[in-house]
Amino acid sequence: MGWLGLDDTDSLAGGCTTEVFDTLLRHLPVGASTGVPRLVRLWPFAQRRTRGNAALAVEIHTNDVDGLLGHLDAWWTEHLAPLRGSMESSLVSDRDQFPASPGMVWFDLPPPPSVYFDAVRSHVSIDSLPEPARAWGGHGRIGATAAVAWPALDFTWEAIAWRLEGEDHRPRHVDDASLDVVDAWPDTFLSRDPRKGTSLIAPRGKSPVLFGLRATSRETAERGCQRLLEGSGTEQVDRWRVFQTNQASGDHLGPELTLTVERVEVHPTRKHATVLCGDVSVRAYAEGGPINALARWLMPGDEISVAGLTDADGLVHAERLKVETWVPRARQRPCCPECDVRLKSMGTNQGLRCPKCKLRSEDAWVDVEVHPPYASWVEPPASARRHLARPLAWDESH
Ligand SMILES: [Zn+2]
Repeated sequence: MGWLGLDDTDSLAGGCTTEVFDTLLRHLPVGASTGVPRLVRLWPFAQRRTRGNAALAVEIHTNDVDGLLGHLDAWWTEHLAPLRGSMESSLVSDRDQFPASPGMVWFDLPPPPSVYFDAVRSHVSIDSLPEPARAWGGHGRIGATAAVAWPALDFTWEAIAWRLEGEDHRPRHVDDASLDVVDAWPDTFLSRDPRKGTSLIAPRGKSPVLFGLRATSRETAERGCQRLLEGSGTEQVDRWRVFQTNQASGDHLGPELTLTVERVEVHPTRKHATVLCGDVSVRAYAEGGPINALARWLMPGDEISVAGLTDADGLVHAERLKVETWVPRARQRPCCPECDVRLKSMGTNQGLRCPKCKLRSEDAWVDVEVHPPYASWVEPPASARRHLARPLAWDESH
């Protein structure tokens, strides 16, 4: 018995660690059986991250651990080590690419959960990892170790279907009517963008993955995947598998911050808002929809609560935002206590007068009552959310 972890076998040029892992699991030696395979998303700002920044792990049961490790040695040399360094330099990308650096680990017992939480919330260096019983390869050992350490306290499921070999250049075909049916099931989530109606289950770019269907129960992930594959408009697939995942767990976010707004800057063309709050600055991108609208509404003196990840420049990328208290936006003259008509100024230092009954009173102002565009927590639309983001609708307390 023990735990196997794998990461970083893919690059922007193609390939997918999920498929590589599935192949490995299908070729384990006789007598070895597996627990539930897991797909674990890690810190989205990791500099060397793969496209989805997901690592894989599984518990393996066997009475012959030495035999299994010998098999894994051979499998590593033949199938995984050659994936090292694959990268397509001609591909246009707005972020730095790193060549794939596959890593695999074997632990007799999972490392403590803190190893996972460090890797989902911050940068982790390869030197700080706990020592596995056996390790192969390079940088991917970080994600592989974190995936084994994941305590799976809060989890969802994803059924992944892989395309036939050599098909990953062609447009994807998933039956739209079947997706409608599956999307309407209460236990599936993020299958379609509710605003635009577009499918969210297919990855962008070159990948052997046809779709990944997310669900809150394993049964629904399985049943939904089968329903999609039976659809007449769905292309033939090679194989599929259901993974337990940390997607939608919210594990990447630390405690919420409470801040007082000092200034709001809105980018003149790209429309993202930066909310400056003393030592902390909060960024709300235009794609964030409601978050961006709320951020742009803020004024100096407003108090906000925010949850998000802090990037290398110290900027908090808002994933959840709420305005707790707000300063008055405008003021006006009070109303006449007799007629309820608004008083008018008689001129500088001349006091106020009711235009109807002529009652005179001292100079005064009252605040105009305002309502923020959103009174409770807001989040970006489904298509702009991170894999790890927990939908607000799941949190009754919000
Ligand atoms: Zn009056």
